[in-house]
Parts: sequence; structure tokens; C-alpha cells
Amino acid sequence: MINWSKTKAVILDRDGVINHDSDQYIKSVDEWIPIAGSLDALSQLNKKFKVAIATNQSGIGRGYYDEPVLEAMHQKMHKLLAEKNGHIDHIEFCPHHPDDGCECRKPKTLMLQRIAEQFDLDPSEMVFIGDSLSDYECAQAFDCGFVLLLTGKGLKTLEKLAGKDVVIEKSLAKLVESIGQ
Ligand SMILES: [Mg+2]
Ligand SMILES: [Zn+2]
Repeated sequence: MINWSKTKAVILDRDGVINHDSDQYIKSVDEWIPIAGSLDALSQLNKKFKVAIATNQSGIGRGYYDEPVLEAMHQKMHKLLAEKNGHIDHIEFCPHHPDDGCECRKPKTLMLQRIAEQFDLDPSEMVFIGDSLSDYECAQAFDCGFVLLLTGKGLKTLEKLAGKDVVIEKSLAKLVESIGQ
């Protein structure tokens, strides 16, 4: 169970949560395509919570795209979201290769720590929304709430989490519906 009345910020993974994911990585602005209903859902979340993104972007470390391209993807996201009267309050991304051994790549919690500092919040006031095992593990390690979405890698992740007590929603849009007014 998530105590939404106590929640002050939602932290979202990006790929497979807001936009469609690909095993070949999202490498260009054209490949950044929102999941149906996700932008409207974000604009609803804006009414109740601070909204941040924490995303692993190892495609940068792997040399598939660079930070200016990532920034251009995010400009597209901001523009499409603004058309729905929504916005993202803060973005954290890890550009590193998994072999770099950095401190920010999920399931490490540095990105969530930075967001907590940015908003001056305690983990108990934050809920992480993701589709991957690393998202779940990150939320567990940070001791904040977690919702698994079945978009993106969510169905595969659900299999990996068999037997665990996890809050599940079909999509970001469905999650917002279930939070209600
Ligand atoms: Mg994801
Ligand atoms: Zn990193």
C-alpha cells in the first residue's frame, strides 16, 4: 500500500514509464515516443506532487548517443508535456557505462538522494515509479514507496518479483486514475 496523502514527490523512471522503451536503446529524438496517456497522467500528477525523473542512460556511456541528443529528447518531452499543461520539476540521469562503477546508476540511490535534497524531502514522502528490477531495488535501498508499471519491461520484472509484495499498476495513466482526486 502507498500512503498517497503523505506523498510529496513522485520520481519516475523514463524509458518504459513515460515513453516506449527499446532493447536497442532510445538513441534519437524521433525514437522518443510517449506511451499513450502518460503525458496527461504527468499533468495530473503535477497537481498533487513534485514530479522528477531518475533515468539510467548508459547508451551515452556505450557511445550510442551523446548528452546534447539526450537534452534534445528532453526538450521534446517538455514541449509535448507543456501542451498538456504539465511539466517536470527535476531530471536526474546517469550517463555512465555499467562497467564504470559510478555512484549514480540505479539500483544505486544517488539520483534519488539528489532529488530528495532538491525538494527537501524524506524518502518516506517519495514514491518511485518504474518498470525494471533496478527501479524496484533502488526504491527498496532508498526506503521510499514503489509502484511497478506493467509498461516497458514491467511484465518481465513482475516475473522476477514473484512472491514479493509489490504495488502494481498497468500504466502511468491507470496509476493516476487509481490515486483519484
Ligand atoms: Mg525503464
Ligand atoms: Zn552514473
